[in-house]
Amino acid sequence: MQCAHCYKSFSIAKVTGSRGKGLSVEVQCPHCLAWLGHNKLLAIAKIVGFYGGVISAAVGYFVEGVGFITTPLIILAVIMVGISHVMDHLLLIEAPENDPNLAPTVK
Ligand SMILES: [Zn+2]
Repeated sequence: MQCAHCYKSFSIAKVTGSRGKGLSVEVQCPHCLAWLGHNKLLAIAKIVGFYGGVISAAVGYFVEGVGFITTPLIILAVIMVGISHVMDHLLLIEAPENDPNLAPTVK
């Protein structure tokens, strides 16, 4: 994972702060303490694409004569999941209060 604020990469195991749950879960960068989260629209698109593809495949398998509808739907679902997966990266939700990059403290 890469921080959207300080651009340092960190392991999810090193994340000490997290808040929210489900689709709106946010994690805190261990380097700069900025709050980071996922794009909710992309997360929803991924879930809708995944289940849409599964349902289309199931319908196409059990119901005869609907292949002309279900096959394009499956292709669309695969593209939807693929795009949302590629574009899914952490977004900056809240910048840290004491940002060392913006306001260096004199020691
Ligand atoms: Zn950071």
